[in-house]
Amino acid sequence: MPGAKGAGAESAAAEIYDAIIVGAGFAGMYMLHRLRDDMGLSAHVFEAGSGVGGTWFWNRYPGARVDIESQEYSFSFSEELEKDWHWTERYSAQPEILKYANHVADRFDLRRDISFNTRVASAIYEEATGLWRITTEDGRIATARFCIMATGCLSAAKTPDIPGAGQFEGETYSTATWPTGGVDFKDKKVGIIGTGSSGIQTITTIAPEVGELVVFQRTPNFSVPAHNGPLKPEITRDWLNHREAYRKEQRESGVGILALQPREELTLDVPEQEREQEFEMRWAKGGFCLGAAFADLGIDPAANNELVSFVTEKIRGIVKDPETADRLTPKTYPIGAKRLCVDTGYFEVYNQDNVSLVDLTATPIETITSTGIRTSERDYDFDAIIFAIGFDAMTGALDRIDIRGRGGLRLHDKWSAGPLTYLGLMVSGFPNLFLVTGPGSPSVLSNMLVSIEQHVDWIADCIQNLGQRQLSTIEATPAAESEWVAHVNEVAAGTLYMQANSWYLGANVPGKPRVFMPYVGGVGVYREKCDEVAANDYEGFELARAPDA
Ligand code: FAD
Ligand code: NAP
Repeated sequence: MPGAKGAGAESAAAEIYDAIIVGAGFAGMYMLHRLRDDMGLSAHVFEAGSGVGGTWFWNRYPGARVDIESQEYSFSFSEELEKDWHWTERYSAQPEILKYANHVADRFDLRRDISFNTRVASAIYEEATGLWRITTEDGRIATARFCIMATGCLSAAKTPDIPGAGQFEGETYSTATWPTGGVDFKDKKVGIIGTGSSGIQTITTIAPEVGELVVFQRTPNFSVPAHNGPLKPEITRDWLNHREAYRKEQRESGVGILALQPREELTLDVPEQEREQEFEMRWAKGGFCLGAAFADLGIDPAANNELVSFVTEKIRGIVKDPETADRLTPKTYPIGAKRLCVDTGYFEVYNQDNVSLVDLTATPIETITSTGIRTSERDYDFDAIIFAIGFDAMTGALDRIDIRGRGGLRLHDKWSAGPLTYLGLMVSGFPNLFLVTGPGSPSVLSNMLVSIEQHVDWIADCIQNLGQRQLSTIEATPAAESEWVAHVNEVAAGTLYMQANSWYLGANVPGKPRVFMPYVGGVGVYREKCDEVAANDYEGFELARAPDA
């Protein structure tokens, strides 16, 4: 079993660790802390970027900020950390979150075990030794008994799948890899493609400074106001005074967000006037809580329609030009079936004279040209084009690594019809390979910090348990995996999530299998299941001694 000095296996590799972690976002950082500082294992992190923070390291676009209130979207594992850190805004912005990630790295002295600017190219399981052999793009080789993929669900940015991309001779930006130091758009003519959360935040923030902004929208998105502002001292005080109770409540809740305050009643059981009042109250409060106004909004189309009508009226009330308002109104999918956007004056920007909207369903992009964008209707010339076109979500970062398990089985091939996991944590045929917030877990449907901590703690406890029992290998059984995948699909099938072409379903990536990837069952229920599995001697997993352990 691994000890502080390394796995001790004979190998030609230059570097030997007990555990290798890929990715230094919040998941990889906390994983390193647990394995190294709490358990005394030798652990090393490989990170493609030049710093910690993952999402918040890369996505530096103007206006990037959380859609979950700051104190809720933060680590809970250290009371001292929580008490020492003060968020300044209700919804913190990217620079502050990145500062927080760096503060965590400093506080727990994480950097000394992280190799930055180091992208992992392959992870191969060696059956003879029971070790994972990791190769980096710059040729480093390292082995470890355990390999933990903390590669992120929204870290594999899509490359523009638009004809002519690359021909444009002006400035080109992607929200997901925004340059450090920012960009000056003052008085420039800017085109932006994409109206998901990244696009919406960017559009809202740059609209006042650009000379002209043309928004190319394929599918309109539902967006609700954040009502952001300075975080009131009394809120921080209350949070810290009740942190233990609040954190427990988060962990046992549906999606790990207390501000949601879900109501149990069914939409149409509530009199119309009270229903409207509830929607109004939640719209005024801001954020995701509108989507939790009633219990059946995510499952009953008639209930969902009530909320669609409410938000449609709001858009009409804000956007002065009725035609633009109509184009900005989603009509092809239920509200909430794609992640709601949380904005700060998004619809209002379309009342500015320098902002216009191109509906790509009416006039599709034909090509990107050397000077701009050509739609079926006309040419637009720009100084800069911004791509806010999203990610190959949940499986993309893993798919970009050559991962091979028993018998040389490639994860890419095993997942050719969609991801297969047991609990979103492990994959049969891939012993000792753990996924943090992998497909099949609540993951992106939740407050990710809550889900990350739960997974990291489960993985750390599992590795410790194996060590205490002189065991060295854990692997999901094919039967447990199949049952779990069937359960994940069954729960999703009963929801309205299936009715949108969302990235949850892989629908945003041409050729990707249409499978609902995250687990809709809720973080509390899911946590109980994971704990129960562990308590029942890791039911659904096979535990063993590796050949040379
Ligand atoms: P990441 O932060 O994505 O980190 C993964 C790291 O792995 C990256 O640094 C990447 O460089 C590295 N990596 C990947 N592949 C390799 C490789 N082959 N070799 C080496 N390194 C590799 N979630 C919320 O709950 N609330 C929010 O408000 C919210 N806002 C978001 C805003 C944006 C713009 C985006 C894109 C996502 C947002 N998310 C939000 C989701 C967010 O990804 C998670 O909250 C969280 O930050 C994920 O942390 P992570 O460590 O799991 O992954
Ligand atoms: P996204 O939601 O997938 O949005 C991508 C946008 O680009 C969509 O409008 C999409 O249109 C459009 N698009 C993609 N390819 C296109 C093409 N070839 N031509 C024209 N349009 C194209 O991606 P995202 O905005 O980066 O957000 C992804 C997720 O990250 C969010 O759902 C959220 O979970 C997280 N996030 C959160 C925040 C936050 O508020 N904290 C901010 C940013 C991101 P279609 O819809 O028609 O495909």
